[in-house]
Amino acid sequence: MNGRHHAAIAIASWVAAAPYLPGDLAAPFAGPLGYAGGLLLCWLGGLLPDLDTPTSKMGRCLPGLSHAVHWLFGHRGFTHSLLLPLSVVIAFELLQQPLPLSWLLPLAIGWSSHIIADMFTPAGVPVLLPVVVKFKLPLASNDLYERGITGVLVVLLLSVGLLPDALLTDLHAAFSRALPI
Ligand SMILES: [Zn+2]
Repeated sequence: MNGRHHAAIAIASWVAAAPYLPGDLAAPFAGPLGYAGGLLLCWLGGLLPDLDTPTSKMGRCLPGLSHAVHWLFGHRGFTHSLLLPLSVVIAFELLQQPLPLSWLLPLAIGWSSHIIADMFTPAGVPVLLPVVVKFKLPLASNDLYERGITGVLVVLLLSVGLLPDALLTDLHAAFSRALPI
């Protein structure tokens, strides 16, 4: 997956998630400015994990930091594992500061979208580091396939965010009837 794929999936993830954020969590993103701010942060979160690759979009923006992260952890290491969000939570805990969810939440949505998208590639993602198990669901491995997966994910996510509620309710009812659980 390249930066364009991750950017598209992250933006679509924000469109999908924003309407469903509950009460207090949704408040900072109400109105066009709040929504656009969330979208921007989600896009950044979607590119953030590849900071461990100096040739990535994020790596080229922050070359010093990117080389350091790559040297320390390699590609698809720390930034692609739950150690990253865990470290952020621990850091705020140590600083005795509340988590600033108004900007961490969209970053986290974008970051998660990146990790899930990378799972569709043969290299997989070591989400549970230091346990070195790579989670992956690659159905093929080439640029066309990655574009296809990106397209499918973007369409699905945009549908979740943009389809009218009534249609979603009907679809949910139809799935419930087809797959009674
Ligand atoms: Zn990645």
